[in-house]
Amino acid sequence: MFASILINTNAKELNKVFDYIIPKSMENIISVGDRVFVPFGRGKNLSEGYVSEIKEQSEFANKEIASIEDSNLTEENIELARLMAEKYFCNIADCIKLMLPPGTSKKNMTNRVKDKNIRFVYLAKEKDEIKFDIDNNLKSDKHKKLLKFLLENDGFDISELERITEVSKAIMKTLEKNGYIKIVSQRVERNPLQNKKIIRDEKLELNDEQQEVYEQVEFMIENDEFAEFLLKGITGSGKTEVYLQLIDKVIEMGKRALVLVPEISLTPQIIDRFLARFGECIAVLHSKLSDGERYDEWNKIKKGNAKIIIGARSAIFAPISNLGIIIIDEAHDNSYKSDMTPRYNAKDIAKFIAKKNNIPLILGTATPDVCDYYKALNHDKELVELNKRANQAQLPEIAVVDMRNELALGNRSMFSLKLQEAIAENLKSKAQTILFINRRGYSTFVMCRDCGYVVKCHNCNIAMTYHSFGNKLKCHYCGYEIPVVKTCPECRSSKIKYFGTGTQKVENEILKMFPEASTIRMDIDTVSKKNSHENILNKFKDENIDILIGTQMIVKGHHFPNVTLVGVIAADGTLNIGDYRAEERTFQTITQVAGRAGRGTEKGKVIVQTYNPDNYAIVCGQKQDYEKFYDGEILLRKRLNYPPFCDIILVRIHGENIENVKKISQELYMNLVKEKNENLFIYKPVPSPIDRIQNVFRWRIVIKGKLNRKAIFTINSAINKLNSRKNVNIFVDTNPTNMM
Ligand code: ADP
Ligand code: ZN
Ligand code: ZN
Repeated sequence: MFASILINTNAKELNKVFDYIIPKSMENIISVGDRVFVPFGRGKNLSEGYVSEIKEQSEFANKEIASIEDSNLTEENIELARLMAEKYFCNIADCIKLMLPPGTSKKNMTNRVKDKNIRFVYLAKEKDEIKFDIDNNLKSDKHKKLLKFLLENDGFDISELERITEVSKAIMKTLEKNGYIKIVSQRVERNPLQNKKIIRDEKLELNDEQQEVYEQVEFMIENDEFAEFLLKGITGSGKTEVYLQLIDKVIEMGKRALVLVPEISLTPQIIDRFLARFGECIAVLHSKLSDGERYDEWNKIKKGNAKIIIGARSAIFAPISNLGIIIIDEAHDNSYKSDMTPRYNAKDIAKFIAKKNNIPLILGTATPDVCDYYKALNHDKELVELNKRANQAQLPEIAVVDMRNELALGNRSMFSLKLQEAIAENLKSKAQTILFINRRGYSTFVMCRDCGYVVKCHNCNIAMTYHSFGNKLKCHYCGYEIPVVKTCPECRSSKIKYFGTGTQKVENEILKMFPEASTIRMDIDTVSKKNSHENILNKFKDENIDILIGTQMIVKGHHFPNVTLVGVIAADGTLNIGDYRAEERTFQTITQVAGRAGRGTEKGKVIVQTYNPDNYAIVCGQKQDYEKFYDGEILLRKRLNYPPFCDIILVRIHGENIENVKKISQELYMNLVKEKNENLFIYKPVPSPIDRIQNVFRWRIVIKGKLNRKAIFTINSAINKLNSRKNVNIFVDTNPTNMM
């Protein structure tokens, strides 16, 4: 027999399979997905690889597989890794890494993260016999004390036992030698959901809209059929309740459910809702877990001990057998697209897995990605909708304030008069307020008013940001810090000024204007320790703090019943990001922010401040009119040929030597042109908008066109024909979330 092996190397050209002879001794144990070592190339060292196919015939095989081990990978994993390597221009090895157990080291398959073992102490004789010996034979008080305790509490953690009874482990050893007790090492599971108080709840009766959505998906579940649903439901329309009931159905059929949520909204609040409905059978996967926790959660899933898996993007690779449904919540969110190798989109992977398993996939959101909605309207996905709020809460009223008029009114502060009034009113009535700003720090940049000099990071060519805490200037890309400058380093003028607004500045201004207000801030600078995110939100809620000031982090999925006012300090922040999705982001942000106001009984109020009140993203955002926004946006996308009408393929050329980066960019451009693929429009190489980060120079070539097989071939072949790629890194990122 023969096996096709994927060789695990970093050389791009080796993303193909090579045939090997399977030695007789391995014939019965080998299976697709196994990890093998094989002789490869001229060197003496063996190369690592994975079995991708087992077959009876091969014309090419002439060498034998040297060794084999189980890798936990399945046939489906291997197929997926191959597709990913092609589509995302990376090595199969990089894709396979995502699917291996956490903590698997590269050299050998042993896990660096180990099972957690605890020694437990058990009685080794019949209870009556021990009671008799305590009364008649044993002399040591310590021995008696320990055995008496164990008679009531058999099977106790040894360290706890030592602490409670004050009998040392050495004495326990003696008792073990005398045959009274056994000390047994046992594996325990580290459980990130430990210490959670669960208050169980029950199914709600679905309203008509919810019922209709439920039944459409249920039909697919019952009939083992693939379908991709785009669930467009306004915030508070009861999407989550529909998910919960579909999951219940899936579990009833003996299957499992995978729920993806954006990293940031993987908060205790969402997990609590699942725990309340389903209790303990949940596994969570996200970046805040310790290595040990992640390892245990992974194994719990692998062994089939979790019925529901909730996780961020990479949980799409969790080893779930018998999957019954995949749900992607907040499906428009950027975080489903990876911006590191492999640059995959979890929505694409989910579709692949759902198709393979003949199960439904649901993309739920209040503001569908324009591309997803376009596909749904063109019958490439099933569109299902929830247009009413489920719990009778009223939609908030959204007001747009033109900040250009404020100056004319003599208001120089960053808060419009309308927002100031509303905050004052909320303070009086003890209702809570959220202020949203999409920048952290104090101020965006520092500029000299005499010569125009902007203080930039010397590693990154990025304007540095003022942080009042510590009175420093910080680079948000590399973390470089310098003390604040008082005179211009260029012209020595003292007219150096801080421009823009950040979370810190908003907080300071609020405290100046409303000294009696209590405030709390949430941004990357205040959220750092494990759970701190949770702590801030709990504090805001439980201590009824007047004003929460935060960045993007606060706009997702939280539920604060006492919040009646949300202020968006500068809605334009997302409009000027140099990206074709600027309008889409702005509309989404306004909608998400508005969803935070008035989720309780009071009607909420949202005040959006802007310098571009006529921009259609802001006009439609105010009306909460997704369709109107979509109609405008899709026309523009069509006219300018942006996704969904094509893909934007960004080829990045990064390196430390600027001349080298330029030269290779030029050569790559010529190679691309020479391929003569008429379906691709290739722009000339230029420096990226951020042209240097941590002393790495960054150039790019933008390609517009459909990323199909032919395009992939063209791009790969142009890269492979480069004379040298020494000292540069070339990345290909399709429809990247970050164009900078
Ligand atoms: P979404 O996920 O769309 O934002 P949720 O599922 O969080 O909406 O629902 C919003 C609120 O409405 C929640 O408090 C939820 O308990 C309530 N709710 C959802 N469905 C129903 C229903 N069928 N009957 C009554 N209340 C409901
Ligand atoms: Zn920097
Ligand atoms: Zn100057």
